[in-house]
Amino acid sequence: ALGWLFDLGLRDASKMALVFLSGAWLLMFLPLPARPRAVAEDLWRLSFALDLMLRASLMGLYRTQPDSALVLEAIGNTSEVEAWEFMHHNAARLGLYVLLGLGFAAVALESRRRRRCIGSHAPRRWRLAMLMLLFAALHVNSTLRASNPFASWWTQATGYKDYQAHIGLLAAIREASAKRVEPLDVRYDGPARNTLAFVIGESVNRNDWSLYGYGRTTSPLLQRRAGELVVFRDVLAAYPATVGAVQMMLTCKDRHSLPGAEPLCPSVTMLAKAAGYKTFWISNQHDRYINKRFAQEADVRQLVNTGGRRGDRSLDERLGPAWQAALDDPAPRKLIIVHLLGAHPNYADRRPDAFARFNGIGDSVSRRLRQEGRMPWIVAQRDEYDNALLYHDHVVAGLLEKFVRVPGEGPRNFLYTSDHGQEVGHTRNYAGHTDELPGYEVPMLLWTSTPMERAERDELAARPYQNDLLEWTLLDLLGISIKGGEPWHSVVGPAFRESPRGLGWGG
Ligand SMILES: [Zn+2]
Repeated sequence: ALGWLFDLGLRDASKMALVFLSGAWLLMFLPLPARPRAVAEDLWRLSFALDLMLRASLMGLYRTQPDSALVLEAIGNTSEVEAWEFMHHNAARLGLYVLLGLGFAAVALESRRRRRCIGSHAPRRWRLAMLMLLFAALHVNSTLRASNPFASWWTQATGYKDYQAHIGLLAAIREASAKRVEPLDVRYDGPARNTLAFVIGESVNRNDWSLYGYGRTTSPLLQRRAGELVVFRDVLAAYPATVGAVQMMLTCKDRHSLPGAEPLCPSVTMLAKAAGYKTFWISNQHDRYINKRFAQEADVRQLVNTGGRRGDRSLDERLGPAWQAALDDPAPRKLIIVHLLGAHPNYADRRPDAFARFNGIGDSVSRRLRQEGRMPWIVAQRDEYDNALLYHDHVVAGLLEKFVRVPGEGPRNFLYTSDHGQEVGHTRNYAGHTDELPGYEVPMLLWTSTPMERAERDELAARPYQNDLLEWTLLDLLGISIKGGEPWHSVVGPAFRESPRGLGWGG
């Protein structure tokens, strides 16, 4: 009943109940001495309490199951600081699920303790055999087996071990994908000098940018440049979590690939190198997977976020010197990829104090949130989120400012988008990653040194696009073509064709 109440779904909750009860029943009648049996029974009950707590919190926070690719990746790829930030960010909700687990555990343990006269009901041998048979039969079905915490945690642990082993194999995967560059017959068709900067924001929902019409002035500096930008109005993220999103933006992996699948095709960085580009990877993300897989491919790597301790804020402005050095580099052709920390939860850690402008200001935005029934702590989270975005505007506009000022011939393009969005009370009482629409509605901006008519800019900005196809836009801006290329997937290309789009993190 608790499982059903906490949104696990009637079917999954019933399976859990069936396995729990049959196991509890069997343990009750096993011919064991009293003490070991009591320990075994308590262990059985406690593990279901813990499992219920974990399942309910994953369902409540992320609408997902423990064995999804998302959870596997997040746990396999999370640093200690991020884990603390996660607990801080979700403290209230997590507290509720801990209470749920404790309540269930208390009832389950107490009910065993209060039971009487078990000895006098000792079953006959055939009845015990039937119970054992029932319990075993339940475990033949894989989904029922997964309802037994001992079985599902074992599978889970194996999954994490495989993920760690996979990270260890990334160097070999990189080499294997490098071998696939040559058959693609990479061609560069452009002027001698060419620069593309690709700036990846983090957890930015475009509906919270004043550049996209939000009621709070969260992007004043970018708005000042709006007349020189293509502000794409209708872009969806590839995937609502960082690793999957970056994989899909930089490689042939797309929405239709398996969520946990490793893309073996060469990334945009590798193709750019083959076309004579000098490549840079500048990152403020402490990400074991991305830094090992993609940053390693670049000629120049600047990873400024080394994890640090809890409470260390690695603000995105730390990337400034590395950015300037890349802009000053004399190489004729450059691809500069920047991976920001943006507005990743915990929001309050993403900006310096001077940017705390929206806390408790009680404006039309907070009034509307309250009217829509959002809890006070969600409204407070929204204020912090908008502070983080205000600082993000300062960071992105600062990068652009320096980029625009670099003198030199040859086309220069600056493309900005976010890996995915974020729900902060937009549709429900929740703040964080989500695989619903707020997790996908990202901003995208292009500044180009190539002169462009207003009408042409507006036409590009209106194109509906999803970022799992972004590698084709990047290759287009780089002037690179490959065998079997799909240039109609470039959102800035003359051959652009609209493709079907969708949501869902699968797994
Ligand atoms: Zn992300």
